[in-house]
Amino acid sequence: MANIKDYKIATLGSHTALQILKGAKDEGFKTICICEKGKTKPYESYNVADEIIVVDKFKDYFEIEQQLIDQNAIIIPHGSFVAYIGAEKMMDVKAMHYGTKGILEWESDRTKERKWLLDADIKLPKIFEKPEDIDRPVIIKFHGAHGGKGYFIANTPEEFYERYKKYEGKEGHEDYVLQEYIVGVPVYSHYFYSPVTGELEIMGFDKRYESNADSIGRVAAKDQVDVGIETTYTITGNVPIVLRESLLPQIFEMGQNVVDASKKIVDGGLFGPFCLEGIIDPELNYFVFEISARIVAGTNPYVNGSPYTWLRYNEPMSTGRRVARDIKEAIEKNELEKVLG
Ligand code: AMP
Ligand code: AMP
Repeated sequence: MANIKDYKIATLGSHTALQILKGAKDEGFKTICICEKGKTKPYESYNVADEIIVVDKFKDYFEIEQQLIDQNAIIIPHGSFVAYIGAEKMMDVKAMHYGTKGILEWESDRTKERKWLLDADIKLPKIFEKPEDIDRPVIIKFHGAHGGKGYFIANTPEEFYERYKKYEGKEGHEDYVLQEYIVGVPVYSHYFYSPVTGELEIMGFDKRYESNADSIGRVAAKDQVDVGIETTYTITGNVPIVLRESLLPQIFEMGQNVVDASKKIVDGGLFGPFCLEGIIDPELNYFVFEISARIVAGTNPYVNGSPYTWLRYNEPMSTGRRVARDIKEAIEKNELEKVLG
């Protein structure tokens, strides 16, 4: 029987690396963490890496990739992996890679993402073609805006052009989307779909902790206007939430629909961890504005498991550990290719 001792688990030191590497060790794997120079401390302090490979910048990944291949390491992609290596270079990754690479193209291209989600019967916020069409609150998102930084809100075409001024001339300023602003609460739903068991699991939920959006309620409306505070959504952390239980059937159904639809767009389909990110309005409509086809940092509060994984596993089960378990089961069944892509 194939043995997990013949493989290692590797990832980049940021985002969700702590839980990925700890989870891998808990499942019995040796681990490798690729760190940027000067940023190794967390991975040493929490003792999650058997080996640390230091690079100047994450984009230098390809310079050290051979070391991973030589050690039979399986790369677990996360938000920083895609952000720093670039969705377009993902296909050049030669090391073993957990998950379907092709799906990342659908995730990172807004038009493709929308088609996929619509095929899966997911409710999406309305998109406005041009600023002149704005007839309600919209959120303006620049492509590749990292972690929500630089988003802004407008209610009318005039307001749009007024606020847009300060972005003009900046790199990428022409590439934005005008999305209906949904008033409600943000809910990010974390899923796991295993190609080994063929089952979809709900891993947990979070909301983001964003600066300055999450602090604006701490100053009076008058002061907000007087001081000219503009809302931004720079991600700084994540807050765990537990959802009203009667919403769970719908959450399962949405996840399953997304998995089923993915099989029609990419060979192998979507598997492993993924996340639907959206807003639930007062009528309990769940509008999804984005899908992440990989582990999200919102799973970080659950290193020791979430209420939902506790129901299913009776042992600490982070999303990172769930990934390692999937790989372990695939290896033991001689089906490793099922989880690589
Ligand atoms: P970082 O390695 O922290 O620069 O993150 C890489 C990318 O992952 C960022 O561009 C963010 O979009 C995303 N990201 C990082 N941390 C979080 C988080 N805690 N919650 C949501 N997204 C995150
Ligand atoms: P994103 O980077 O797309 O995950 O969005 C960052 C943040 O912007 C979210 O956590 C929400 O607070 C907010 N946001 C994004 N899209 C919408 C929307 N259509 N309606 C309301 N808020 C949104």
